[in-house]
Amino acid sequence: MGVLTKISEHVYWMPPGPPDRPSICAVVGERRTLMLDAGSSSAHTRAFVDALMSEGVAHPTAVVYTHSHWDHVFGGAELGALVIAHASTAERLLELAATDWSDEALDRRVAAGHDSPQHAANVKEELPSPRTVEVAPADIVFHDALELELGGVTVRVRHVGGDHCAESSVMYVEADRFLFLGDCLYASPAGVLTAELAFPLYDTILGFDAELYVEGHSTSVLPRREVEALREKLRAAEQAVREGATLAEPDEDTEHFLQAFRAGRATAT
Ligand SMILES: [Zn+2]
Repeated sequence: MGVLTKISEHVYWMPPGPPDRPSICAVVGERRTLMLDAGSSSAHTRAFVDALMSEGVAHPTAVVYTHSHWDHVFGGAELGALVIAHASTAERLLELAATDWSDEALDRRVAAGHDSPQHAANVKEELPSPRTVEVAPADIVFHDALELELGGVTVRVRHVGGDHCAESSVMYVEADRFLFLGDCLYASPAGVLTAELAFPLYDTILGFDAELYVEGHSTSVLPRREVEALREKLRAAEQAVREGATLAEPDEDTEHFLQAFRAGRATAT
């Protein structure tokens, strides 16, 4: 279980953990607390809220979602707070609520090739059978952007899209120069990155004047220079794949980018 850490003046972070728990954060203002993504289950959300309480932080008034992948939203109902989501995410939440999450249904979707075996295994581990999954619908829906005033701190939410999920939105806490990325920089669930979406996305992300970045499934807070370094590796990998060149001793990030761009070219042709 990740330990709650205060990473800047207004932001608390619980790092990701097994089986597929993502980073979740709270932004604490004088009047309101806002949660960023809800976690993978009631147990995950409860652990986060309990940790906030023991720090003397007020219960979240609302949660805002980066995207609707199950591991970021299944904990939402437990919170009993307003759910804020992009229009496309809001639509998808309704579909998730109407989906059968039994072991049998999970296995059927894996057999049909709709979901990966890892996905089914993660859901089963996070939510032991027999499971009831209550997916909270969105209460507040935005289209391009939204600003939330928490009292002495503003959170700017912006829809950015990308290869991982067209829904992806990010949250910027200007006072702390903190950007919550969710999974937006990652490859698609099929492992694909495209130059068309990835390059503009990195430009958008670095266009915020952030110094601290939290990603959905990265166990460290990234300083700006690391996100800039990732963009350089991304560029080098994309160029190598486009030109059919080989890179000498690519590091882990570069190797991942090479594979994802190759997968992107394979599906594009
Ligand atoms: Zn995701």
